[in-house]
Amino acid sequence: MFKTEETYTYFQGKIVPFHEAKVSVMCHAFNYGTGFFGGIRGNWNEEEQQLYIFRLEQHYKRLSSSSRLLLMKFHEKVSFEMFENVILDVVKKSNIKSDVYIRPLVYKSSDIVGVRLNDLEDDWTVYLAPLGDYVPLTGIRCCSSSWRRISDNAISARGKITGSYANSAFSKSEALMHGFDEAIVLDQNGFVVEGSAENLFIVREGTIITPNFSSDILEGITRKTILQLAQDHGIPIVERSIGRTEIYYADELFLCGTGAKVCPVIEVDYRKIGDGTPGPIATRLQKLYFDTVKGKIPQYKNWLTPVY
Ligand code: PMP
Repeated sequence: MFKTEETYTYFQGKIVPFHEAKVSVMCHAFNYGTGFFGGIRGNWNEEEQQLYIFRLEQHYKRLSSSSRLLLMKFHEKVSFEMFENVILDVVKKSNIKSDVYIRPLVYKSSDIVGVRLNDLEDDWTVYLAPLGDYVPLTGIRCCSSSWRRISDNAISARGKITGSYANSAFSKSEALMHGFDEAIVLDQNGFVVEGSAENLFIVREGTIITPNFSSDILEGITRKTILQLAQDHGIPIVERSIGRTEIYYADELFLCGTGAKVCPVIEVDYRKIGDGTPGPIATRLQKLYFDTVKGKIPQYKNWLTPVY
């Protein structure tokens, strides 16, 4: 596994050694959380000696939407081709030949005191990090968080806004400090929405159920992928609200995200989910997902950008 300190970073329009990419303490985004980011995985395929970046265009689209939301210029200044080229250059120059986590970050770069979104400069950076399994993939134990997900009329959970991750951190730390692996987060009305950094699915009588985009969820790219894989493999899908106790009634529960991949949940609030082991549909979708991201399924190769 490589070390971030040995990689290159895109910063202020140039590719520089990681340690040279530094912002001022007065940077607006550092003070007020006025930025947004992406989390993208490159997956190393040992047989093909190839690194495949997963769903780059979807990540670019979500970043561009966040750019509009936060009154930034990223979506006007940076085309998909530019974005793709910068990412490929950073990864190639860093000579990454293993799994990699790619973090584009767009931020209000003005050194200025003043809480607002308008009339500020913005810039973007891309750095790399090693990231193994973000949570254990063999089945995790969760608790319902006592914190609530930020609502669409507070910050919006739809994109990855830096400031809103303080909300995720509250839930995640509460879960970890109580001895759980991850938090199940509810919205202001008490409906189940997400993990602290994952979208959530339950399985009931063979149907996969997940909250829809009117709920306070991140518009997750792994979620979108799972829905497509399920559809293509004849697994029925429903997008609707999920009450807290419905997860205790579910046959299966799993979380998904770029970091978490597809992760079965085997217990919530001291109640076993199903028989307390990873269920058949979560296990099937997990395998399909792994094969997809490594480039092993020709049908889904158009979701991958080869680096070399
Ligand atoms: N929800 C939250 C709050 C997240 O931080 C993430 C991780 N990006 C996800 C869901 C999953 O999104 P994606 O599949 O796009 O990584």
